[in-house]
Amino acid sequence: MNKQFCVFGNPIAHSLSPQMHNFAFEFLQNDIGFRGSYGRYLLKDADNLAKSFYDLRLDGANITLPFKENAFEQSDRVEGIAQKIQAVNTWVLRDKKIYGYNTDAEGFYQTIKDFNFKNALILGAGGSAKAIAFILQEKKITPTILNRSLERIRLLQKDFDCFTPHNFKAQQFDLIINTTSASLKNTLPFEKEFLQDLLCNAKYAYDLMYAKQTPFLQLAKSFVPIKDGRDMLIAQGALAFELFCAKKIPQAFSLMQKALQ
Ligand code: NDP
Repeated sequence: MNKQFCVFGNPIAHSLSPQMHNFAFEFLQNDIGFRGSYGRYLLKDADNLAKSFYDLRLDGANITLPFKENAFEQSDRVEGIAQKIQAVNTWVLRDKKIYGYNTDAEGFYQTIKDFNFKNALILGAGGSAKAIAFILQEKKITPTILNRSLERIRLLQKDFDCFTPHNFKAQQFDLIINTTSASLKNTLPFEKEFLQDLLCNAKYAYDLMYAKQTPFLQLAKSFVPIKDGRDMLIAQGALAFELFCAKKIPQAFSLMQKALQ
């Protein structure tokens, strides 16, 4: 039996998901009981997401920037923590219905779960900040959100402690996570001295970007151990892969890690 998958996004050419999933599909073909193939799809119109999924006769998909909220809205059913986050990055077709999941949140958690953190400061208030805030809250690691502007914070204030630099009072945070896209512009998300004050009291710094070491991690590494977003990328992919195969696949993470080497 053949099954087809893809990742939807815009832009999408840079996505590493096809490399990760195709490697795992090929290696595990005998264990999972089907031949899987996984492509990428440049989506122009968000309203056509579900239509494209059906037109392409897919069995499952990943959805990346900027369509995760559209994927949430266009799912027939939304499962697990994706209901709270209101963003979906994985679709699975079951009984002709699209089931939506968010594996970013659990994927992130898997990469920090052994550290015993009590609290975390999340820099940024976009889609990935929201996913991380909900999973940390669920796992009893108290999240605080700090964003440069007010607008996105308004939506999160009912669930989390949220601040801008204007009303933020420095305190000690075990983990500081940069989820902002400041790194894409090769800049720090906040002023250097402000970040240094936070980092010198922290235990660990994390940046969701993975292609290169960001200005935030370059600054943080003089103070604390650091981690980039590569393991999170692999972990969310491995969890999506298990959903596509409808079973636990303990070797999925290491296979996908190998695929990217
Ligand atoms: P969003 O566009 O939803 O949010 C971006 C956030 O960054 C906003 O809070 C915005 O603040 C803030 N921001 C943007 N530019 C600056 C700046 N110059 N200075 C300070 N803050 C800034 O993005 P996402 O949350 O979806 O993604 C963020 C990053 O995480 C991306 O780089 C993405 O590639 C990465 N990512 C990595 C994953 C992985 O698996 N490793 C998974 C998901 C995302 P404001 O509200 O003021 O505009």
